[in-house]
Amino acid sequence: MRKKYIAVILAAGNGERSGFDIPKQMIKLAGKPIVEHTISNFQNSTSIDEIIIVTNSNCIEKIEEIVTNRAFTKVKKIINGGGERYESSLAAINACAQDAEEMDIKLIFHDAVRPLVSDRIIRDVVQALDHYNAVDVVVPATDTIISADPITNTIDAVPDRSSLRNGQTPQGFNWKTIRLAYQLALKDPNFKTTDDCGVVFKYLPDEKVYLITGESNNIKLTYKEDLHVIDKLLQLNSKKIIWNKLNSRTLSMLKNKVLVIIGGTSGIGAEMAEIATAYQAKVIVASRRTGTDVTNIDLLNEKFETIRAEYGRIDYVVNTAGILVKQPLALMDYADVLQAIQINYMGAVHIAIAAYEYLKESHGHLLNFTSSSYTYGRAYYSLYSSAKAAVVNLTQALAEEWHTQYVRVNCINPERTDTPMRRRAFGIEPPGTLLSAKDVALFSLGVLINESTGHIFDVTTHQVRHSIQNGGFLDEMAGITQGINRE
Ligand code: C5P
Repeated sequence: MRKKYIAVILAAGNGERSGFDIPKQMIKLAGKPIVEHTISNFQNSTSIDEIIIVTNSNCIEKIEEIVTNRAFTKVKKIINGGGERYESSLAAINACAQDAEEMDIKLIFHDAVRPLVSDRIIRDVVQALDHYNAVDVVVPATDTIISADPITNTIDAVPDRSSLRNGQTPQGFNWKTIRLAYQLALKDPNFKTTDDCGVVFKYLPDEKVYLITGESNNIKLTYKEDLHVIDKLLQLNSKKIIWNKLNSRTLSMLKNKVLVIIGGTSGIGAEMAEIATAYQAKVIVASRRTGTDVTNIDLLNEKFETIRAEYGRIDYVVNTAGILVKQPLALMDYADVLQAIQINYMGAVHIAIAAYEYLKESHGHLLNFTSSSYTYGRAYYSLYSSAKAAVVNLTQALAEEWHTQYVRVNCINPERTDTPMRRRAFGIEPPGTLLSAKDVALFSLGVLINESTGHIFDVTTHQVRHSIQNGGFLDEMAGITQGINRE
């Protein structure tokens, strides 16, 4: 009998229990609803044949829209779930009854609110289903687990931690096994809802539930605070993918792309221009030196219009324009105050407005730059650091606004980088403490050709070294650099 592996994304919760205003799975992180991140993981997994999404009347239209817009081709059914999680699982089990007459159906249930499930976990669950009818994903319990007496609110027992695990999802089953377990459960007047593995464990005691080792990152969005952690982890995932994919072959995706670099006559922008040119992108550097002033939106509009007319399209817009004046705010000339805000913040706003039409047309990418000072204002360059905080916020907001138009918006946050702007402001700094502008430029080009949106990518010296050491990146990097020098 032919086997079919169907992922069931449970997205019918309403999130009220944890105090969210909207269902947790619809909250946006990195420019997209959480459920979209989760569906992508299963759509991209070669272990999964089909996807069923179980949701509720509040979310169904939005989820249908996501599935259509993102071309999630594996999604074959979007159905309504129930008030309890087990009812949502049951809805998916019943929806497969007909398929199960002809095929050996395996169901892989997953919480929509665990967007960080890895391809490795999905693969391990699917492979284990060749040998077991029920499979769970667990991680060792790190906290001591206490069994409490609810009446006296005192410790009842302290189970040995070495045998305790925290349950995650996905949980995989042979369809017949999970269906039978629920049939028995529903006949039990004392049935207490648990997760799906719990139902098999209780009602089919002879069935072995095999354990796959999960990952601490595969967390479930439960509390509002989790949003910060998940956001950061999504960013780290994307960053890992970008470093891993960065090589001469992937950079050749830049060929014939029209890349506009604002402020690219020196520093990171200039390095990006050089590398992208070596990979045969059509690079246009627009800066004050070439007559483009980011404080003047009319000039920017004209510039983009001319580029579009000459090259036929604009794929990527990179904003590296910035000035760093080191002076206490109260002592600055008012004209300098205005200029700092105009260039560092209004510049980003003007570029976004002027570029939008063209990026919409090309399904392109806007890339901003911030500074590590965005998280904490720095004395003596308050206008630079506060404008950079605004640029981060702008990036996140635009990533959401433009997501439906397939325009990606990201931001690079380079640690201290060896650029002319930095040397002017900070003088000579100890060697080895600064990132090279070329490393940051390479990573930034990697971001441009990647699919992610809404991220603030921190680039640190430590990570560059780590990626170079672990990714075999050193050889590649040498190859890339030589390639550039040869051009
Ligand atoms: O509420 P909790 O965080 O335990 O929910 C875990 C997952 O189960 C979520 O993705 C939620 O949408 C889903 N769920 C469901 N149907 C319910 C309750 C929860 O699909 N009735």
